[in-house]
Amino acid sequence: MACPEFEDLVRGGGGDHAAHCEECRALLDALADVDATFDAAFAGISAPPSLAAAVRARMAREFSVRRTSLLPEVLDFIGWAAVLALAAILLPRFLPLLDAALARIS
Ligand SMILES: [Zn+2]
Repeated sequence: MACPEFEDLVRGGGGDHAAHCEECRALLDALADVDATFDAAFAGISAPPSLAAAVRARMAREFSVRRTSLLPEVLDFIGWAAVLALAAILLPRFLPLLDAALARIS
């Protein structure tokens, strides 16, 4: 994109910005030309009334959300439970050593 404000320009219509930016004004003019060309070319064509429902049905069929597996969650739980169990076993054994080391230092 030539202008960093382009996306805001396209979303908001861009009249204010385009009044001051030549690049964006030229781009908006080109987009308006394309829009007018498509409007003229397809003016007499309209979609059949059943098209929207057919598209929605096909999208629902092809992009249906599958039930996610609980296996990764269970494996995460088992892994963290093992880490916590190991810490619960090892920490009391090493705390006296840590206390002794700290006592020697101070
Ligand atoms: Zn601009």
